[in-house]
Amino acid sequence: MKTNAQVQIDRQLNPDDLIVIAGAGGFIAGALTRHFHDLGFKRIRAIDRKPLPEWYQRVPGVESLSMDLSEKENAVKAVEGAAEVYNLAADMGGMGFIEHFRVECLRSILVNTHLVDAAWRAGVQRYFFSSSACAYNTDLQKDPKVRALKESDAYPAMAERGYGWEKLMSEMFCQEYWAERGLKTFIARFHNIYGPHGTWFGGREKAPAAMCRKVIEAKDTGNMAIEIWGDGTQTRSFCFIEDCVLGIDQIMHCDKLVATPINLGSSELISVNNLVTMVEEIGGVKLKRSYDLNAPKGVAGRNSDNTFIQGVLDWEPRTPLRTGMEKTYSWIEQQYADRKAGKKVVKD
Ligand code: NAD
Repeated sequence: MKTNAQVQIDRQLNPDDLIVIAGAGGFIAGALTRHFHDLGFKRIRAIDRKPLPEWYQRVPGVESLSMDLSEKENAVKAVEGAAEVYNLAADMGGMGFIEHFRVECLRSILVNTHLVDAAWRAGVQRYFFSSSACAYNTDLQKDPKVRALKESDAYPAMAERGYGWEKLMSEMFCQEYWAERGLKTFIARFHNIYGPHGTWFGGREKAPAAMCRKVIEAKDTGNMAIEIWGDGTQTRSFCFIEDCVLGIDQIMHCDKLVATPINLGSSELISVNNLVTMVEEIGGVKLKRSYDLNAPKGVAGRNSDNTFIQGVLDWEPRTPLRTGMEKTYSWIEQQYADRKAGKKVVKD
């Protein structure tokens, strides 16, 4: 298998072409901004509605703007002069957030609706939209021993209420801007991306970060207990941020994938209980578990069928879950210590 560094991508971009990245104060788009910067692209415009001091990553030399992209005028300004636009801006969080704030999730449709239109009007060459496994039919995800979800499983549609329907509709906008108007759009359905520089406390964090924090907290406070949402048998797959970013870059620059939703995630299934065990091992502790059966727990099982992406791009996550979780744990451990020492850390 090739390493990430060995993957060749024909981007057809000049080093001074303008790349616009929306949601760049957040987790995935922040990492994507760093990726293009490190590749030597000189003109990157990073945008997020969060004030600049609250961004997870501020990449030196990158034009960083704080703007609400659900406002049409801002979307128009954002894409001015762009060769490529990556839309990763959304009101988003783990199950605790998306089950309780459906209106906020649905309202992210404004961002994509304005951005894709502005991109088309501005003559942008390529447009990327970050969709989600939550766009899949929830009826197919009622058993922890799920069969992996393949791209055609989104229809007949029964997406996750709120968040999933927004993704499905925004996908359709992207598909029709290609079909009717000729804008090259690219759509990835992310499956649980995790890693350093993402939300780890405050209510929007997802399971991997929440578990790392809970284990670190238990060690720090001496209260050697952990509360798990649901009964712990629910299963998921988790994809490390570096693999995700490379996948985005490959998808965006593959003409075979125009207007075609594609899974971007790991196909290595793990139960929540086993993920807790892994984090306990990393932290070198064993905690007393309790289960909150009334907490938001999402679908019973979800996995990514990677047949399509393997066939088209030869893409597979290259970071084993244990390695990625160790990196995530040590980043959160440092954040936790900084916060405890009264230093400013980023929170959504
Ligand atoms: P994140 O919350 O860290 O980043 C999203 C960013 O978008 C935030 O910084 C937020 O401030 C910004 N944003 C929201 N509304 C905005 C607006 N109106 N104008 C400008 N900025 C706005 O989330 P993330 O994990 O980095 O997710 C990025 C994208 O990937 C989102 O579209 C999300 O739905 C999708 N996704 C993520 C995962 C995952 O596991 N992290 C899974 C599936 C899909």
